[in-house]
Amino acid sequence: MPFTKLGLSPNVLRGVQAMGYTDPTPIQLRAIPVILTGRDLIGSAQTGTGKTAAFALPILTKLGAHQSTGPRVIVLEPTRELAAQVETSFRDCGRFTDLRATVIHGGVGYGKQRSDLRAGMDVVVATVGRMMDFLNTGELRLDALTILVLDEVDRMLDMGFLPDVKRIIQRCPKQRQTLFFSATIPPEIQAVASFALRNPAQVEIGVARAVTATVTHAVYPVSQAKKFDLLLALLAHIDFDSVLIFSRTKHGADRIARRLKAANHSVAVLHANRSQNQRTEALAGFKSGRYEVMVATDIAARGIDVAGISHVINYDVPKNPEDYVHRIGRTGRALAVGDAFTLATPEEARDVRDIERFIGQKIPQSKLAGFDYGAAPLYPPRPPQPGPSGGRPSQGGRSHHGGGQRGFGGGQRRGHSGGQPQRASQPAAGPAHPQPSQPRPQAGSLTRGRWNPHRV
Ligand code: AMP
Repeated sequence: MPFTKLGLSPNVLRGVQAMGYTDPTPIQLRAIPVILTGRDLIGSAQTGTGKTAAFALPILTKLGAHQSTGPRVIVLEPTRELAAQVETSFRDCGRFTDLRATVIHGGVGYGKQRSDLRAGMDVVVATVGRMMDFLNTGELRLDALTILVLDEVDRMLDMGFLPDVKRIIQRCPKQRQTLFFSATIPPEIQAVASFALRNPAQVEIGVARAVTATVTHAVYPVSQAKKFDLLLALLAHIDFDSVLIFSRTKHGADRIARRLKAANHSVAVLHANRSQNQRTEALAGFKSGRYEVMVATDIAARGIDVAGISHVINYDVPKNPEDYVHRIGRTGRALAVGDAFTLATPEEARDVRDIERFIGQKIPQSKLAGFDYGAAPLYPPRPPQPGPSGGRPSQGGRSHHGGGQRGFGGGQRRGHSGGQPQRASQPAAGPAHPQPSQPRPQAGSLTRGRWNPHRV
């Protein structure tokens, strides 16, 4: 079904067209009509599915034209980056309306946010702490609120925000529409959902466990002592547009960034200890291509939507298997394809197995040909059956058996052709444990402006 049949207003449809979207994504197809009827909604969908537009487009349609009553829509987000991104989506989709949106989050002064609120906004996208500040001073009033969006609620739970989220819900008018998005719904979140929602429709798209089909992933077993050298060697071998490196800790991220800079890479760092200006500058520099590499922690990078990330490298194996899915989903976004490498020490083998169990597939293991791994054992042997029976087969598409030679020679950034996205190349590799490889969707079959249907 095309966007034109979904009941969106003509001005919002013009915004959709200007964004270059031709076909609605599955969550848009299912959520937009429900939201337009005014019904509450619980949506479980991973980022990268078009979730933001799935709520922004019908909300803009329902708001119609600007009113100076005070905010009619509040969208709560777990991180500043996500809040800024969602506000941008509202502005982009609503560019042919006179509706006003702003973002309020911590890490920056109150002045501009205060004057925006005074000027009268239709949509306020907010992080929890700053929203509480403005509610407590009375500068943000919720009398006119008609729609409350709670986005990425599972991440709000992880970050300890749920008590404040509940306080905010309590201060909202009872007569409202509530839209609730969470990749997973554990009991604590179910409790908030029951408290916040009335007779909600449920829309479940994809599964948070699913690894984006456009991403090829592999584990590179390595000893702790050789990890950084392997990272450098991988960067030297792959032909990349831009690389996002994940570290579990903020200090780890700083350390990796320092060492990469010393090795002449241009590097941005994104984590919660950095000032808001530094975070904004890092993200903008990474988006513009000024930095070829960004090192980030999970929370800071949650949901960041940067086109053209060709590679994600997990310097540490994430402890939380769900973070693996989110991390590697930063590449292969919407229309492109990408590669994700995970560097894993023997001590992290158990975490890898937890991830494999969670995603229901084995992650192919690879060894970088020609790299001096030293004498330490790379990895304990795999147990015979790491995944649940009936799990999905390995997605190992391109062979990791020494194929993927394209673009080798010097770790240069790939030329930005501006044309079709190209599948990122893999470094020369030999299998640590041979894995069957299966054909993957052809990168060339994904055309700009069309939603990629090849999701698992
Ligand atoms: P989200 O899941 O909201 O983070 O969106 C992921 C990416 O998909 C963003 O870059 C959106 O601009 C893009 N996107 C959203 N809807 C569509 C669509 N219908 N067609 C193509 N791309 C889309």
